[in-house]
Amino acid sequence: MNGYTQEGQLHSNHNGLATVSQRKYSTFDGVRFSPDFCVSPDGSTCYFLDQSSFKFIVVDLTANLSPYPCNIPPFEKIKGSKIWHSLHCVQRKERTYILALLEEVQTNKIFLATIQADIYAEKLTVVYERYLGQRAMFQLSGADIQEPRIGHIFCIVYWQDAKKTYCHMFKIKIGTRGNIYPNAYGTNIAVDGCWFQPVITKKSTVVFLSHPSYSIDCWLLKLKINQFFRWKHTIEKVPAAPSREGGAVIPGGWLDNTYSLSFSRPRLEDDYAVYYVYDFDNYKGHIWAIDTNRNLIKTVPVDFDGHDVQGRDAQVQKLANDTLYVHGFCSRPSCEEAAHLHRIYLLPI
Ligand SMILES: [Zn+2]
Repeated sequence: MNGYTQEGQLHSNHNGLATVSQRKYSTFDGVRFSPDFCVSPDGSTCYFLDQSSFKFIVVDLTANLSPYPCNIPPFEKIKGSKIWHSLHCVQRKERTYILALLEEVQTNKIFLATIQADIYAEKLTVVYERYLGQRAMFQLSGADIQEPRIGHIFCIVYWQDAKKTYCHMFKIKIGTRGNIYPNAYGTNIAVDGCWFQPVITKKSTVVFLSHPSYSIDCWLLKLKINQFFRWKHTIEKVPAAPSREGGAVIPGGWLDNTYSLSFSRPRLEDDYAVYYVYDFDNYKGHIWAIDTNRNLIKTVPVDFDGHDVQGRDAQVQKLANDTLYVHGFCSRPSCEEAAHLHRIYLLPI
């Protein structure tokens, strides 16, 4: 482990709303060319997907051990080339499984696979592959595995054309042997407009962000799906959205053409959608948290000591113990490590 820990400061709570705040964070070496990763639910092990060498890089986050590579095991049902869209870790009894959301390129079929991780044998095994019963109609704009409450696992895939955003959503159960039991929770959902980076709330509502390229204001699209899998949606404005001033992100106007931000996929913290947002002009990373009930944005300043991870490839994962992980390439060109995994402790206040 090549890391450091820094005590941060708690936020004052001006208006009585619960929010999230950085308390302290640790940094580990990341893996170059492989932004996607997942962390075991106990926080002990990180699995980086290194597609350049067709391996997972396994890192023990609790001890000063060298990372080791594990070959990506062969798949039986998924044929030909595949796109890895999202990773997520679950524990079933003593076993750790990596869930991988994959797209078979030839057919655009969406698959979920469970890969058993045996860190003692330094071995990964594919134990289950399941076609989720749906194809993507076009190239996917995004796909994610989220677990808003422990045991409530969802896969969401979405794509866009010039006028609409479409999505499929699946509720997933994972058995003790890694078996996958998928249920189509909503399929072929189509809404007007360009929406991205959805978060699934504890009430299973899907909340999309308006795409900055298409709207000066920040809007949320909230998709509610009932027990009969019928859906309805509302579009709600975010009244106080961030802008940049003096290098810091503060409440103001939404995005304009004068600067560019990239958003990671969100993770849920209480009722907040939490994003890692990178400001390309200032080489600064921030944590943004949108209250999905009140539509308010909070920003959580994090000082990464100049080693902010950058760009559209930065990824986040979150554990149930309010720990957020951000992984990506370092914004400092001379950085020896080139990539970092930042572990941030979030506090509800
Ligand atoms: Zn760095």
